[in-house]
Amino acid sequence: MEKSIMVMKFGGATLATPLLMRGVAERIFAAKEEGKDVVVVLSAPGDMTDELIEKAKAITPNPDEREMDMLLATGEQQSIALMAIALKALGCDAISFTGPQVGIVTDDAHSKARIVKMGGEKIHKALHLGKVAIVAGFQGETEEEEITTLGRGGSDLTAVALAAALKSEVCEFYKDVDGVYTANPRVVPDARKLELISYDEMLEMASLGAQVLYHRSVEFAKKNNIVLHVRSSTKPDAGTLITKEVQPMEGYLVTGITHAKDEAKLTILWVPDQPGIAAKIFCALAEADINIDVIVQDISEEGTTNISFTVNKSDLVRAKTILDRLASELGAKGVLADENIGKVSVVGVGMMSHSGVAAKMFSALAERGINIQMISTSEIKISVIVAEDLVEDAVRAIHERFNLSELD
Ligand code: ASP
Ligand code: MG
Repeated sequence: MEKSIMVMKFGGATLATPLLMRGVAERIFAAKEEGKDVVVVLSAPGDMTDELIEKAKAITPNPDEREMDMLLATGEQQSIALMAIALKALGCDAISFTGPQVGIVTDDAHSKARIVKMGGEKIHKALHLGKVAIVAGFQGETEEEEITTLGRGGSDLTAVALAAALKSEVCEFYKDVDGVYTANPRVVPDARKLELISYDEMLEMASLGAQVLYHRSVEFAKKNNIVLHVRSSTKPDAGTLITKEVQPMEGYLVTGITHAKDEAKLTILWVPDQPGIAAKIFCALAEADINIDVIVQDISEEGTTNISFTVNKSDLVRAKTILDRLASELGAKGVLADENIGKVSVVGVGMMSHSGVAAKMFSALAERGINIQMISTSEIKISVIVAEDLVEDAVRAIHERFNLSELD
């Protein structure tokens, strides 16, 4: 019978120094000695990807996209070679591979490529020879052999895609945090580590600002039914499992709280309240590739209305320019921009079958005198926009109200 293959992914923070790398190598060796076939996926060490981006931007603010992928792919390549060196020094046979070498084929969308085909033959050969296979995360190549990258955090996606291709049931993520928490422990010191969370909850958390896993890796895992395990790179304890159906624990309405401070709010004032106006505004923004998050339209007064929405802070200037132009075209009164906002969200499959979550959340905010500027909801999530300097207060207030530190 074939041995089961274990995919172990290590994040950049766990590889930041030679000493940390040696520790990771020991962990990999230990798994190998338990008799497993081990495939390792690595991120670039420490903050290397950010540093490489900075270097290029110090030359020109708009570096060429193809060459950026050439540049960024070097970070992961350093990790894998160093890790193979570390493993061999321990007496564990290992071989490193770039994404292209193992046959990770992508489309040609530089800096955010999608995987279209996954090889694996080289990995099987290496495993067959008793080696640990170490694969560079985040990178692939097009059919034309152009190097691409999969988007920030993309090594997570490499790991899950490999787990699927190699038919392994679990993909282990080793990190400098030991799991997924009910809230960011830096903001809520008594946040609780979750044992289990569903793909859908994790997807909401990942896209709402919990920087635990790349959301595309969670989507991929959900589609292919691969269990994800987020755990500490230095401690042996189990972390958080991310799986299909998770029965919400009795009485648990909310699983976790996330927050993000990377959005900004725009308001276009006194636009005509007529069919086609919103379409015009949001088509113009879509054409400029600007993603919109929360949208609110006021009730109409004397035939006009205000439309507010949020965008990523990095898109604010471009979005404002477009709105200013539209404002004069549509005869609107003006455009307001506010960078000092943040988003706080509660997530939980439990709220599908229970009412009162919003009431509880909003009253926790009211008691602290925190004003809600915008609200948006989905089946398993409620988000509010509040002033940026109140975000952490809001997270703590809501965490306390839902009693998330305690297990019953
Ligand atoms: N090194 C890349 C990044 O920092 C990919 C990854 O770490 O997942 O985004
Ligand atoms: Mg990462």
